[in-house]
This record gives sequence, C-alpha cells and structure tokens, in this order.
Amino acid sequence: MLPKIASVTTSVIDHPGRVSLVIFLPYCNYNCIACHNRELVEGKFEEVPLEELLWGLERNSLIDMLIISGGEPTIYGDSLLELIKILRIKRGDLPIRVDTNGSLPKVMKIIADYIDGFALDVKAPPLRREMYERIIRREFDLESFMEAVETASGLPYTIFRTVRYPWLREEDIGEIREFLSRYGGGKPHIINPYFEPEH
Ligand code: SF4
Repeated sequence: MLPKIASVTTSVIDHPGRVSLVIFLPYCNYNCIACHNRELVEGKFEEVPLEELLWGLERNSLIDMLIISGGEPTIYGDSLLELIKILRIKRGDLPIRVDTNGSLPKVMKIIADYIDGFALDVKAPPLRREMYERIIRREFDLESFMEAVETASGLPYTIFRTVRYPWLREEDIGEIREFLSRYGGGKPHIINPYFEPEH
C-alpha cells in the first residue's frame, strides 16, 4: 500500500536555487524536541488523494524539483519506493530529493538508485551520542548514521541540514561542520535558523 500523503506545497526555500513541490508524508520514528511538524508526526492530517497530486503534477510547469518530506519518509520502505517510481513516471524530467533523519540507511540504499539526492538532517554532533539522543528522544545509532551519510553523499542533489537550536553552542556547530567536511563528500551543509514551534 502506498504511503498516505498529508499535504503538498510549493516552496522556493527548501532547496537552494530550486522551485520545489514538497510532498509531506505523515509519522516519524523520532520524537524531537521542538519538532516543527508535530501534527504530521502525530497523524493529524487530511489525506491528499494521490490522483489529485498527480493531476496537479502533470500541469505544473513552475516547479523544477520534487521533494518527499515528512515526518520521516523512509519508515515506509518499499511503499516509498513505489511512490517514487510513480512520480518518476509522471515527471521523469524533475530531480527527486527525499528528506530524512538518517535512521534507516537500508531503506536509503534501496531508494538511492531511483532519486537524485537526500536532505539529511544532522541534529547535533554525531560523535556525541548523549547530546543527539537528548534532541531526538530516541536511540541514536552512529553506525547506521554513518551509513546514511555515505549513501547520501554519493548523490548529486544531496544537502546536509542543521537547525541552529538554541541549545547548540557555536563549538557544537563547528563539530558538525568538521564531521561533514570529513564524511559529507563535499555536499552543501545548510544551517537553518531556529523558530520556536507554535504548539
Ligand atoms: S525527525 Fe523531523 S519530523 Fe521526525 S520528530 Fe524529528 S523534527 Fe519531527
């Protein structure tokens, strides 16, 4: 069964230099402090029918990228791959990026052959497990995360993303930068400002 689609929006800020159609999938395997998609993660959404998405997609000449975001898209495994294949058939002219927290590298490996990039969140210095786990409120597996970074860094449209959370010190951001300069394959590292969630 295909993943449910929780919402769809056009964005000029999600990928540098691109007008993207962002498709949001619900639910996540993390429970981050200050998650900005809490409603989505908790499954509070009105489903967008796939037919409606595909109808709009065919007629949208403004966009030059597709982004599958969430929630955490990789929790859907093979169903995510099915959705990607459908999008590919509809708009084979557009690069596809998948946003991920990097917790399911095996799924990332499977879909990597069908997409053009990942946006991989690096929420804290990955070598500081306790700090990472305080943010995601789940277990953090460094070995899996390293696999995720390796897979992501091999694709042309990959970016790494960090939110400048108030509890990250300048030296923590520096550690993340250093980590990515060593393992990130030279892909861009975008540091986004922190905004207090509304709820
Ligand atoms: S990984 Fe993203 S969607 Fe999931 S809880 Fe964290 S911030 Fe929210």
